[in-house]
Amino acid sequence: MNCPYCGFHDSKVIDSREVNDGIRRRRECLNCGSRFTTYERLQPASLFVIKKDERREEFNRDKLLAGLRKACEKRPLPIGIVEKLADDIEAELYRLGKAEISTAVIGDMVMERLKSLDHIAYIRFASVYREFADITALKQEIDTLVGSEVSASLPTSQLPLLPDDRLGELAKSRRRGQKRGKH
Ligand SMILES: [Zn+2]
Repeated sequence: MNCPYCGFHDSKVIDSREVNDGIRRRRECLNCGSRFTTYERLQPASLFVIKKDERREEFNRDKLLAGLRKACEKRPLPIGIVEKLADDIEAELYRLGKAEISTAVIGDMVMERLKSLDHIAYIRFASVYREFADITALKQEIDTLVGSEVSASLPTSQLPLLPDDRLGELAKSRRRGQKRGKH
């Protein structure tokens, strides 16, 4: 950035701070000593979304956020988590480095994250995105979730903080009907 007063090509940074989604730098011209401010902002290349009917439209974070908000409405989630989710997904999309991405890829990213965040939000989003044909398809999805919830909660709630080798021992001693062992 050339000095706006004398046009000199070099300046030193005397202060820099993050503002919103960019960095504000206070600079001093190495030639005339004038001070000026620059803002640096990441400018991602445009990303297009290919919709189901093959139409393309520019990726819109607000649209993504609106969909997430709707799915997470009135759920007991930490403040700011929905925005963070949108940020994460947006960042991942740009990291892919593609010019075009299908809505299916974005949908899957959302589903994956909602699944580990909140099952009700997940089902809400899935019911719109997957367009469950009937209640059976919806029930199948819910059954899968319930299944994963049960298998995920069993080991931690029943056998807290035991290393794997102890787990085997414990199971054996339980089977033999002995006492829990010394620990
Ligand atoms: Zn200058």
